[in-house]
Amino acid sequence: MSLHTRPLGLAALATTGCLLLTGEGAAAALPIPLPIAFPCPGAQPDGGLPPAPARRYAGTTEEDGGPGTAAWGTEADGVSRWFRRQAVPGPEATPHPETTPPPKTAPHPECATQPAARGTAGAGGVGDRYFPQSGNTGYDAADYRVDLRYSPKTRGIDSTVTMTATATQDLSSFDLDFRGPAVRSATVDGAPAKYQRTANKLVITPPAALDEGATFTTAVHYAGRPSPIGNPDLGTYGWVASRDGAVVVSEPDGAPTWIPVNDHPSDKATYTFAVTVPKDLQVLANGVPDTPATHGPDTTYTWHERMPMASYLASIAIGRFQVRKGTVALPGGRRIPVITAVDPAFKKAAAKLYTTTVKAIAWESTLFGPYPFSTVGGIVDDPRLDYALETQERPVYGGFAPDDDFIVHELAHQWFGDSVSLRTWGDIWLNEGFATYAEWLWHERTGKDSAKKAFQRYYRQPATSPIFNPPPGRPGKDELFGFSIYIRGAMCLQALRDRVGSPTFFKILRAWAAQHRYGNATTAQFEALAQQMSHKKLAGLFDAWLNTKNKPKRW
Ligand SMILES: [Zn+2]
Repeated sequence: MSLHTRPLGLAALATTGCLLLTGEGAAAALPIPLPIAFPCPGAQPDGGLPPAPARRYAGTTEEDGGPGTAAWGTEADGVSRWFRRQAVPGPEATPHPETTPPPKTAPHPECATQPAARGTAGAGGVGDRYFPQSGNTGYDAADYRVDLRYSPKTRGIDSTVTMTATATQDLSSFDLDFRGPAVRSATVDGAPAKYQRTANKLVITPPAALDEGATFTTAVHYAGRPSPIGNPDLGTYGWVASRDGAVVVSEPDGAPTWIPVNDHPSDKATYTFAVTVPKDLQVLANGVPDTPATHGPDTTYTWHERMPMASYLASIAIGRFQVRKGTVALPGGRRIPVITAVDPAFKKAAAKLYTTTVKAIAWESTLFGPYPFSTVGGIVDDPRLDYALETQERPVYGGFAPDDDFIVHELAHQWFGDSVSLRTWGDIWLNEGFATYAEWLWHERTGKDSAKKAFQRYYRQPATSPIFNPPPGRPGKDELFGFSIYIRGAMCLQALRDRVGSPTFFKILRAWAAQHRYGNATTAQFEALAQQMSHKKLAGLFDAWLNTKNKPKRW
């Protein structure tokens, strides 16, 4: 993800005294909702859930930006850019994540004791320190099929999501993360299943317990109007309505606004999206498209994401788009489809989006190794989100025409974040530091500046600057997407490059992308790989750049 460069917007916002408009900030601000109990056995009242409470953000400039403030300012290269934002601390501030035990989302006792004589409930929450309720440990999702019909009249959806998964324990019940519209029915292996909802969970009790190792399918049918997380003034993510449809951008935990899902990047899966719309609309999504099928007044667009994907990267965009298709030749001779789409309001961005995407993906393939996916592209849609998200194979740019840095950044995430995914959200610098460093490398390539010079200019900033705090290896949930995660994360990589030399450094990047391709990885694994490949002791360097407060002095 990256925030939008917007010098003009900056001036406008400066007069409002309020810096907003970032989905990540809104995410960080959301208190963990308390479960809302629905009566057993199951069907919740119609109408979905109330929208998440809104939080305000303070705004200031980088010059007066200390901890606890949001900030914008001017980058070392003189480009004004959103820097970071942080929620004004509220009374419900999250306890230090490292000390937060993952709370169990126990099924309603009466439900839990119903038919399943064997097995236990899969634990709600896979143990992520920052999102302790996200995911479920009782199963491993392999595939999701999303059959969704969108109605422009109601702006609502009628959707069935079918998950294929393997039980990782004898399972009496399990949950999916879900905060979308009203559930109509649920089945397990085709048989009706009982279900109940809490604020963020759909707990499903199959008619008979599932054996450990068994592959099963569960289908959830739901209908109504999805709501995003946050609100338009403060930052919005998840299912976001656009003027002529909707677009989905879910980092970090917005996927449950539109699909029931095991919502944690540690459980990646393949996806099929079959989306039916009136035939004057189009649908883009991750992956490879089938030929659209028109039947009567409607058209069904089907897209296949055949590589494992984290749920926050799953995306569709519904609306009217100028679509451009072509191919790009990657190093080694592989040629893959390029599909870009822009909302007509951004038609001036269309040519640049396409040509820079083609240029950047070929160049990044030479630096980072073989491109991990089957297609590439990008989507510019009209909701003014002022950030971009690296949605797999086809990043979304929310409400602005992306410049080179944005395109390079989001495409670098295809290796770092999308193919090599986080095991826990606390390692977010593995995504953002790497993608930011790709921007610096792009400047180096185009002769604008070397990455080393960028490092040196940032290093001259005062120790109190938000580019240094919090340390990127210990972001805290509220600062997951803080400025330091991006910039100091990239500085860590430059410090590593200085220590091990450029040839070894780039070998390390390629080995990282290759060894964990389509998987999950941790900071500790990156440090171990760098040490092993460079034959140098690097613990001090990583500790200084990732973990120590303020500006690192020696490393
Ligand atoms: Zn990013």
